[in-house]
Amino acid sequence: MTTTKQLARPLGAVAVLLVLIFGAVLVVKARTGGSVTATVETAPVANVGDAADDPAIWVNEKAPAKSTIIGTDKKGGLAVYDLAGKQLQYLPDGEMNNVDLRSGFPLSGRTITLVTAGDRSDNTIAMYAVNPATRELEDVAARLVVTGSGAYGSCMYRSAKTGKFYYFVNQKDGGFTQWELIPAGDKVDAQQVRAFTVDSQPEGCVADDGTGVLYVGEEAVGVWRFGAEPDAGDARTQVDRVGGNLVADIEGMSIAYGKGDAGYLFVSSQGDNSFAVYQRGGSNEFVRSFTIGDGNGIDGTSESDGVAVTTASLGSAFPHGVFVAQDDADDRGKQNFKLVPLQSIVPRT
Ligand code: CA
Ligand code: CA
Ligand code: CA
Ligand code: CA
Repeated sequence: MTTTKQLARPLGAVAVLLVLIFGAVLVVKARTGGSVTATVETAPVANVGDAADDPAIWVNEKAPAKSTIIGTDKKGGLAVYDLAGKQLQYLPDGEMNNVDLRSGFPLSGRTITLVTAGDRSDNTIAMYAVNPATRELEDVAARLVVTGSGAYGSCMYRSAKTGKFYYFVNQKDGGFTQWELIPAGDKVDAQQVRAFTVDSQPEGCVADDGTGVLYVGEEAVGVWRFGAEPDAGDARTQVDRVGGNLVADIEGMSIAYGKGDAGYLFVSSQGDNSFAVYQRGGSNEFVRSFTIGDGNGIDGTSESDGVAVTTASLGSAFPHGVFVAQDDADDRGKQNFKLVPLQSIVPRT
């Protein structure tokens, strides 16, 4: 026979559990300030499982509506998509984890948009030029540049001070190296110029070419700002932390450039399927968090790794820029990337 006393214990436990669940829901709700929807999603990546990782946006200055999304498939290569999500090219060149790009790189008497990716197959820097006519990527690596015992997160920087181009790459042990990217005939070479560390596993990073700041995500800890110049040393300050507006893992990050130091820093907060937005300038004041929900016949994103954003007008589909996020679980099976009009997330800068 069950007595009232025997029932009180499990009922008490259930009540505590309900309060905990309800509390957690409230906390997540407070942290994620609203939901937006994608208007385009890319074709799925080639490989199954956790394969898609990081996007970059090539802004086609002559024909903005013909800009492209370059996305990594960390199980085999990288792909180029048009703004309707159609795949234009797939390069089965290795286990590309993160991708980034910079325009204006001088090469053989012209300037190119240089694309780099961290190739985890052999810990090298994959380097490509965007062919503006075909929109495809062409290999420009002068040689296999091995960057150490791992190529995890990576990002690029163009110094406003010196005009030099750099590649940052990190390892799971917290080590970072910075490489100067150097023209070598009609190819590109690289040379290490700096090393520094964080205390635990990093991945996402992004450099702000306007302010000279390098943002680094230490996945279970927080977002740090370092100087992006090769002589900036080890000095760092914290922008936000896990338990603040971020839930581990901290993943991809990207910068939406406005005039001067206006604009925003976007960070993927993978643990609660959200994205945090901060001011680019000042001390990176927190602006908002958001999620990408189902809508327009496109499923929302969850557990996003990489993100990319631009404020450039990309024609009628994305007149005020676009935010791109990797989606861990696409409703067609394989992973892909979702595109959200930027004006549905932040005011124009
Ligand atoms: Ca993933
Ligand atoms: Ca990660
Ligand atoms: Ca999804
Ligand atoms: Ca879908």
